[in-house]
Amino acid sequence: MNYQLIPKELRSIAEKVEARQRISEQDVLILYSANDLNALGMIANVVRERKNANYATYIHNRYINYSNICILSCQFCAFAARKRDAHAFEYAIEEIVCAVADALPLGVTEVHMVGGLHPTLKKDWYLDLLRRLRALDQQLHIKAFTAIEVRHLAHRVFKMPIRDTLETLRAAGLGSITGGGAEIFDPTVRDQICRGKETAAEWLDVHRTWHSMGGRSTCTMLYGHIETFSQRADHLRQLRQLQDETGGFTGFVPFAFEPNQAHGSLADMKRASAFEQLRNLAVSRIYLDNIDHLTAYWVSLGLPLAQVSLSYGVDDLHGTILEEKIFHMAGATTPQQQSVAALEHAIREAGREPVQRDSHYRHISPRHQTTETRATPAPAELACA
Ligand code: SF4
Repeated sequence: MNYQLIPKELRSIAEKVEARQRISEQDVLILYSANDLNALGMIANVVRERKNANYATYIHNRYINYSNICILSCQFCAFAARKRDAHAFEYAIEEIVCAVADALPLGVTEVHMVGGLHPTLKKDWYLDLLRRLRALDQQLHIKAFTAIEVRHLAHRVFKMPIRDTLETLRAAGLGSITGGGAEIFDPTVRDQICRGKETAAEWLDVHRTWHSMGGRSTCTMLYGHIETFSQRADHLRQLRQLQDETGGFTGFVPFAFEPNQAHGSLADMKRASAFEQLRNLAVSRIYLDNIDHLTAYWVSLGLPLAQVSLSYGVDDLHGTILEEKIFHMAGATTPQQQSVAALEHAIREAGREPVQRDSHYRHISPRHQTTETRATPAPAELACA
């Protein structure tokens, strides 16, 4: 690292990073208050290239939001609906299976599936869905359900302990759980943005349990709303701590809050700037020294900024997605999908080497495609062909 390009206040942190020493929560606050974005990028790049060399990955996946009907009303959430609402939706198992079957010839390796905390769907519905998807293709990785959904299923639907619920879901086909629902762990923030939702300890406990069963998962942070830098630092600290304990997180995926369709005073907030998004990615990369991968969620950043983030600590551009609803119902103006060719082009142009990955960030060769999709996006609607 060229220390002449690092401002004085960041030098001791840069030295620690180069010497592979762990930085403190206090250091994180210094990083969050730094305005020299390129210096942050240089420090983050040390960690990024140490862990991932010059590779930048993406996954070929299909998103499914099976229903937005939810018993909660998180203040930041524009996705959820009550059954009677005009924008409520709920897909039948057959429709979901058809949509995934249509995506398989395109070469997807993962279906990523989350939804609201549905008030009436039964245990058999979830298990049938997993079994039907598993029966479609034994190699397809089913990544589904946030820790919040898992607790909902355990307590209100399956009426079983968390571990038994996870084991039952896994036996039906679940490959990994998703990282959503973490938001910001601080209870005072949760009370204002997602009152009634599970606590940090409850979110962490689901992941701890899953990891103890040999499972792997990702972790997230929803930032850029009312939280302070020290609440972000506390969130990162709790993730790093659990990772020290279990080693089960494969990647970290931060999301910027979308204010457009939020409720109450949250709707008046400004969206996190490009500067803030890059700074948050770089700080996360420097601090989370025990999580191997950092994903730029292009649905939130937009692909151009996600591409730039490859020089600010990021080593993964998430996936093709093939139909995202949650951020788009919140007002995101990014596309709902990307082609493999677009992701690879963005990575190459940024001077990195593109590699397709699986759900655990392992490098893989593309699956055989029976439909030409490398340059042509798949149909966006969830419907049987
Ligand atoms: S964030 Fe999740 S739990 Fe909260 S209202 Fe939206 S769908 Fe429901």
